[in-house]
Amino acid sequence: MGDLCQPGTVRVAAGHQAEARKIAAELAKIARSGMVLPGSVTERRTRCGRANCGCRADPPRLHGPYWQWTRKVAAKTICRWLSKEQHDDYQAWIDNDRRLRELLARLEALGAAALEADPRLRRQRRSPPDRAR
Ligand SMILES: [Zn+2]
Repeated sequence: MGDLCQPGTVRVAAGHQAEARKIAAELAKIARSGMVLPGSVTERRTRCGRANCGCRADPPRLHGPYWQWTRKVAAKTICRWLSKEQHDDYQAWIDNDRRLRELLARLEALGAAALEADPRLRRQRRSPPDRAR
């Protein structure tokens, strides 16, 4: 344990800061692009109401593809139909959002690992400490 560095007052493993800097660089690059969109895009093919339409044939030739952007806001689902052009444009934004969440999760994992490695950490005991001693 000779390779410790010190962010703030917590002693962390040497790789901690290097990993955090790597994550921060990628986070910043994505944030600077301004291309971040939550939610997901689903491809949809549909049937219409006309009886003689190809979408009712066997095998059916469905309409579309259409793209639907879906996002959950406070337990409500918001949907928007996108054109093919919009779908192509915004897919990268959605991928960026997913990557941001991955990077954040890795940063949080670093923090959790630092806490677990903290020599001051009181390990959970199976039973409560004996108060008589
Ligand atoms: Zn149809």
